[in-house]
Amino acid sequence: MSEPGVPNNFITEAVHRDNAAGTYDGRVQTRFPPEPNGFLHVGHAKAIVVDFGTAKDFDGTCMLRLDDTNPETEEEAFVSSIVEDIEWLGYEPTQIRHASDYFDTLHDWAVQLIEKGLAYVDDQDGETISATRGSFGTPGTDSPFRNRRVEENLDLFARMRAGEFPDGSRVLRAKIDMAHENMQLRDPVMYRIRNITHHRTGEAWSIYPTYDWAHGQSDAIEGVTHSICTLEFESHRPLYDWFLEQLEVASPPRQYEFARLELTHTITSKRRLAKLVTDGVVEGWDDPRMPTIRGLRRRGYPAAAIRAFCREVGTTRTNSRKAIEELESYVRRELNATAQRRMAVTRPLKLVLEDWPTDAEGKPLVEWFEVVNNPENPADGTRQVPFTGELWIEQDDFKEVPPPKYFRLSPGREVRLRGAYLVTAREVVKDANGRVVEVRCSFDPDSRGGTPADGRKVKSTMHWVSAQHALEATVALYDRLFTTEAPGERTGEPLDDLNPESRELLTSAKVEPALGDAAPGEVVQFERLGYFATDDRTPMLFHRTVGLRDEWASIQKRG
Ligand code: ATP
Ligand code: MG
Repeated sequence: MSEPGVPNNFITEAVHRDNAAGTYDGRVQTRFPPEPNGFLHVGHAKAIVVDFGTAKDFDGTCMLRLDDTNPETEEEAFVSSIVEDIEWLGYEPTQIRHASDYFDTLHDWAVQLIEKGLAYVDDQDGETISATRGSFGTPGTDSPFRNRRVEENLDLFARMRAGEFPDGSRVLRAKIDMAHENMQLRDPVMYRIRNITHHRTGEAWSIYPTYDWAHGQSDAIEGVTHSICTLEFESHRPLYDWFLEQLEVASPPRQYEFARLELTHTITSKRRLAKLVTDGVVEGWDDPRMPTIRGLRRRGYPAAAIRAFCREVGTTRTNSRKAIEELESYVRRELNATAQRRMAVTRPLKLVLEDWPTDAEGKPLVEWFEVVNNPENPADGTRQVPFTGELWIEQDDFKEVPPPKYFRLSPGREVRLRGAYLVTAREVVKDANGRVVEVRCSFDPDSRGGTPADGRKVKSTMHWVSAQHALEATVALYDRLFTTEAPGERTGEPLDDLNPESRELLTSAKVEPALGDAAPGEVVQFERLGYFATDDRTPMLFHRTVGLRDEWASIQKRG
């Protein structure tokens, strides 16, 4: 899929402006700063495309920075999954760093602020600190420790660092303005005491920087020029700028905030996604119904389609929910170009051809038909598909009593078996419950390849699989994981809107032999049924990626 030139949005405009003014000597450096506390999801994909994509568009660089300032919740295991997911999406960080790489510098800078009288050790507990911050429109009140002497602050901070005090007993706060109209500037906490082992720095630290103290400074240390994040950090920007100003950082980074990506029928909260996994609602972080990168990947979403969607839906400052059908239409467009066509029968019904010839040994004749792998891409070539007198067709493709406008197979009706022969239903065989278990048909030997000698027309072409050659398969059909467009809108709890029927497993599917050679993870089109991804671990398990119908087009038409 084509990736068009530099997109037009407020971020690329800012870069153009900076480049024209020579602000960073034309340098463009961004970063993607996830917290290693979970798997990445489709919202992160958007951030990755914006961060790495903007750098790429301007021949700049983009680092991956693991924001490991919360030793309680972080695990090294998530780091490797984050790196893999970024790579799968098609990007490569110029470097991988951790906020903890900068703990020494951050500490020294904090000492500088203390020396300048711009930070102090507060002995109040967390509850008191939040209670005295005031609220929007109401000023906060000064801590009784706010005017400690510099020497005392230096001494206490050194002892905090040395592990002399219990968790939560003291914090280091910036000394800005407890009456500031922006709450973020009311003496925010820079360090808290946590006598805990960190997954990278071990026992070295008893104090850990807050995200607010680490973030802008880490950008500055790395030389980030355009620090891109989501809108919830907008009110933090003046604080980040204040820190950099007090530290007299030359050519400081500037932060740009864009609206988070939210999709209909989807949640992106890591906490709630984790609950789906622990409650067993889904089978894991990579369940094909999950909006994680791993889930989308296992479902068969191509990375190119996710990238194109993230780029082309735009990067704005207005929060909105994008239709999941729009993402699916990018997936379908990409797969239409790349996926090979195969025949598979998901709910099989036996079709028997009366008078089917036998071969020299008296066994039913096997004919091999050459079919095109992908009409959109001649380079994919052709393959041979076996055809015999006993076939599988879809149960849906036969009706004993056809409803109006039903043009598929019914008694006396002639249809085309794709690329093979025209057949006419003659009689049915039923089981003890009166269910049709077999349709017996005649066939026109002069329609070999699916084109009758006399050029007569039939209204329907159906897919089929030779019974003798069919492979057994399981097909997983997926519906939305949440029934409502905005999960949780009614009750505040998204999990109240879970769709109890989000997966249907069809365990007796019959597929053509070529599918036995499908590579793990390969996505193919099952003719007439949709796109299906071969599972990456379980052989002969196929996940429906998307159906064939472009629902996004109909949604747009409806306006
Ligand atoms: P979550 O709410 O899922 O825990 P988070 O924002 O806490 O997400 P981080 O690991 O801190 O997760 O996010 C790393 C980067 O990804 C941040 O820059 C964040 O702004 C961005 N990001 C997270 N979710 C989205 C989203 N839905 N849309 C766009 N960007 C996102
Ligand atoms: Mg976060």
